[in-house]
Amino acid sequence: MDRDVWYWSNYEQHEFNTKIVRQALSQQIDLNVPAFEFHWNRWTTNKSLMFVWRAIEEKVPTATTLRNRGMNLPDVICKTCGAADKTAAHVLIQCNFTKRIWEKIINWTGIPMVNTEGSIKDLLQELNELQRSKNVRKAIHVIAIQTMWLLWKNRNEKVFSNKQGAA
Ligand SMILES: [Zn+2]
Repeated sequence: MDRDVWYWSNYEQHEFNTKIVRQALSQQIDLNVPAFEFHWNRWTTNKSLMFVWRAIEEKVPTATTLRNRGMNLPDVICKTCGAADKTAAHVLIQCNFTKRIWEKIINWTGIPMVNTEGSIKDLLQELNELQRSKNVRKAIHVIAIQTMWLLWKNRNEKVFSNKQGAA
């Protein structure tokens, strides 16, 4: 069985929001435990981590990278916001839609607002330098990774099913 299935099943029935991330994570951990006192390493997946490392280098198949590889795409503008080319950094942190998700994640985790204008690498670095305990920083890191992975899956889901707001 695919290791990702646990947080993806029934997903298309929901709008993407922090509830989805919370539900997904709560299948692996007890979110009622205070101050992130849980075993974080059981609920990250190699697949989501690999995805984010590839996204940092813009090696995931966005419209922009596909065009750069020679694919004939008439337009690579993000259809969600119409304001920028669709790069991995745009889809995962910079898009207006994505920023709202990050704001909710930030509220939920109780950390200061992070810079969503820069690169994915900068954002992860910023989270890693938070004035929090090592365990909390690890938890935040995993939440950030899973959030990006879910955002990506959500976009692809919309593209392939042609729902409104397709990426
Ligand atoms: Zn956008």
